[in-house]
Amino acid sequence: MNNKIKMNVPLVEIDGDEMTRIIWQMLKDILISPYLDLKTEYYDLGLPERDRTNDQITVDAANAIKKYGVGVKCATITPDAGRIKEYNLKKMWKSPNATIRAILDGTVFRAPILVEGIRPYVSTWKKPITIARHAYGDIYKSVEYSNGKAGKAELVFTSEDGSEISRQTIHEFDGPGIVMGMHNTDKSIKSFARACFNYALDQKQDLWFSSKQTISKIYDHRFMDIFKEMYETEYREKFEKAGIEYFYTLIDDAVARIIRSEGGMIWACKNYDGDVMSDMVATAFGSLAMMTSVLVSPEGHYEYEAAHGTVTRHYYKHLKGEETSTNSIATLFAWTGALKKRGELDGNNELASFAKNLEAAALKTIESGIMTKDLYILSELPDKKAVNTREFLEEIKLRLEWN
Ligand code: NAP
Ligand code: MG
Repeated sequence: MNNKIKMNVPLVEIDGDEMTRIIWQMLKDILISPYLDLKTEYYDLGLPERDRTNDQITVDAANAIKKYGVGVKCATITPDAGRIKEYNLKKMWKSPNATIRAILDGTVFRAPILVEGIRPYVSTWKKPITIARHAYGDIYKSVEYSNGKAGKAELVFTSEDGSEISRQTIHEFDGPGIVMGMHNTDKSIKSFARACFNYALDQKQDLWFSSKQTISKIYDHRFMDIFKEMYETEYREKFEKAGIEYFYTLIDDAVARIIRSEGGMIWACKNYDGDVMSDMVATAFGSLAMMTSVLVSPEGHYEYEAAHGTVTRHYYKHLKGEETSTNSIATLFAWTGALKKRGELDGNNELASFAKNLEAAALKTIESGIMTKDLYILSELPDKKAVNTREFLEEIKLRLEWN
């Protein structure tokens, strides 16, 4: 008899590269497939397949998330010159995450997973800090130019009917230099703001937003104004009722305040700030391997993933047949996050409970002193043991079956 938990709607499963691809398979074999009649629509975003399909597979995966509502993604290689040689690529394909984010126009929320025994480097931090990263535009959709000689760079805006509306000199170069043009849209900033306000209400946490509006009096100022107007007209009452706050401050001030805070807030950041600050926050909370990430679109589509990359250094060891001790927690939480959301959307309580039990078993494993090397170095537990990649998953399984 098949006692496995059933799924009604498929989950969009997006496979990836290197060590995380190895973990992906192990995790499914050890912790998911034995308990769940896993129903997924599978997209292989491993670099060879992206190259073979001219990256169409990435676009298809993003559209599948739009169709089904929930996806789970493995870390993927963003190719650089070295990767072109290593994989004999046709071209330097774009970051799959950037492509998916652009299609979903979503906001990325990243939160650390706190466990007993691992103290944040910042001693005042007691609660997780969630970074909400605007996932559209700015330097990630910029146009750049390297002028090899003297000349003039201008910013020109032409209206739809072809008439020139504005022309400003960016710089008169007396020799070689560089220029960049970037943009954002009111529509995207509004969906970013909406996603942040909704997420704050959902999590019952204060929302902070910061930018550099003192220097960027039009660009960043627009972000600030859109947030303010939306808060006043649509969210102030809801926030007051929920007992939470919306707080805007200059990015410099936000950085200083965050360091002195005890955590527990959602910090909304512009695209680049969010990219950088999320790595800082993750490291300060202990390990990049303990950071979860979810992309939420304004239509309410969700893509869950680990915040870290493909852990290349460990993969090369693995290929040489050496033992690895790679932490699978963030990848596991990507799966449980997606399964929980699927369960919630489909009214499938069994599925949601399974995901919660799996998370609990994973945390219990670390808190009982069994962990991968990255955490072993940090843990202050008196009795602790470092295990390899596979053993760690098997230890979680023991605790899951005992539940
Ligand atoms: P990374 O894969 O995050 O790894 C950087 C280092 O952090 C590792 O070498 C390891 O340190 C530690 N680490 C990260 N995750 C770990 C885990 N789960 N368990 C234990 N240690 C972990 O970053 P990277 O080496 O800069 O990038 C590798 C590839 O990933 C690149 O091709 C990049 O394009 C891609 N990438 C993808 C994503 C994504 O898909 N979301 C995000 C970032 C990067 P030690 O070596 O000291 O053990
Ligand atoms: Mg980053």
